[in-house]
Amino acid sequence: MAKTTLHCSFCGKNRDEVKILIAGQEGHICESCVDHAKEIVFQEVESKKDSKSAFKLSVKKPIELKNHLDEYVIGQNEAKKILAVAVYNHYKRLNQPTGSNGKQNKKGEKQDDVEIEKSNVIMVGETGTGKTLLAKTIAKLLNVPFAIVDATVFTEAGYVGEDVESILTRLLQVCNYDVSAAESGIVYIDEIDKIARKTDNPSITRDVSGEGVQQGLLKLLEGTDVLVPPQGGRKHPDQKLIKINTQNILFICGGAFDGIDKVIARRVNTNAIGFNVNKSVQEEMKNNLLKFVNAQDLKSFGLIPELLGRLPIVTYLDPLDKVTLKSILTEPKNALIKQYRKLFELEGIDLKIEEEVLEFMVDKAMEFKLGARGLRSICETMLTDAMFELPSTDKKEFTLSLIYATQKFEHAKTNVLKVA
Ligand code: ADP
Repeated sequence: MAKTTLHCSFCGKNRDEVKILIAGQEGHICESCVDHAKEIVFQEVESKKDSKSAFKLSVKKPIELKNHLDEYVIGQNEAKKILAVAVYNHYKRLNQPTGSNGKQNKKGEKQDDVEIEKSNVIMVGETGTGKTLLAKTIAKLLNVPFAIVDATVFTEAGYVGEDVESILTRLLQVCNYDVSAAESGIVYIDEIDKIARKTDNPSITRDVSGEGVQQGLLKLLEGTDVLVPPQGGRKHPDQKLIKINTQNILFICGGAFDGIDKVIARRVNTNAIGFNVNKSVQEEMKNNLLKFVNAQDLKSFGLIPELLGRLPIVTYLDPLDKVTLKSILTEPKNALIKQYRKLFELEGIDLKIEEEVLEFMVDKAMEFKLGARGLRSICETMLTDAMFELPSTDKKEFTLSLIYATQKFEHAKTNVLKVA
């Protein structure tokens, strides 16, 4: 009698309907319920693992990437396209089946020997033309850890400054020391031109030759295991180091490379001798020589060939003209003017800006060579007083007129000139 009442406490099946019934303190469980429970536990553990990292790579197609960049960055179509393809290929490479070099992949299929190499990028363009913005925007879209570092803080061993490995410290910090997330992140190295070799290079003023730093960077870019000081700075003997593999970290470098136009002009002219280059091509060459930049020019500028070999994709950014600056003020998703409108709106005030004021802002940014970076401080000088006074009034509307804007600008000109 007692035998027939034995049953699985989870699914209710009787002893004779199951193969095994495991006894617990107050009940029993059958083999299929054990299997089921195991599956639930596995799924739960996996989902927790995934949610541990806030970074889940979401790869988009190059056109989607470019479209997204268009929402935040004005112009720079060539750089956007090249960056979109480089980033897409990079993450395609990450997702390629493991077991290349004639080995078999997980499904037992034989792999070919084609191993896609990393496509680190170097962007050449005047300061404030959107290099950092491009890299930042694309990293955000892909949802990967992103760190910006400045090449000028790194020095060769023996000098005061940071070790190149601390580049990876920044990456680790942004993803809360999640090593696997960091290992597929993006690093933007700014001012790469400042570590160029000094020879033949009048723009370099640092007293530490950059060549040693370039050699150090080379190691990182190559894709190896690197020991990283968790707090950055310089390594010291009794510090615990974190091992990071840089194989799948995408490095994007940027620099203004002041004076590189002369290097390009020399090369392009030499190459053009003997060819019948027509007037319009000549004119185009003169207007934006950066369009023609290549690795050879960067080498002449002072980057070592080994480093350039690790930065196979070279692109350029156009200088910003008045039309572009005006678009930057008003068009991007979080354009400055939109941000100020929002600030006023939160106060219940409708901010109106006369068209001429926008022109004036752009003219001043050009005149003082402040570029896009200067637009913010120009806006700030024109609107600070209004933002100070209006919250204490019951005004529902404020118009930034040309007269008002000119007055405020003239008054605070010195503050504006402090930027950039
Ligand atoms: P760079 O890295 O080339 O020196 P940034 O990307 O830091 O320049 O640009 C500085 C700021 O200027 C950005 O934060 C952005 O507000 C603005 N900016 C520059 N170029 C553009 C652009 N092409 N489109 C939109 N905003 C831009």
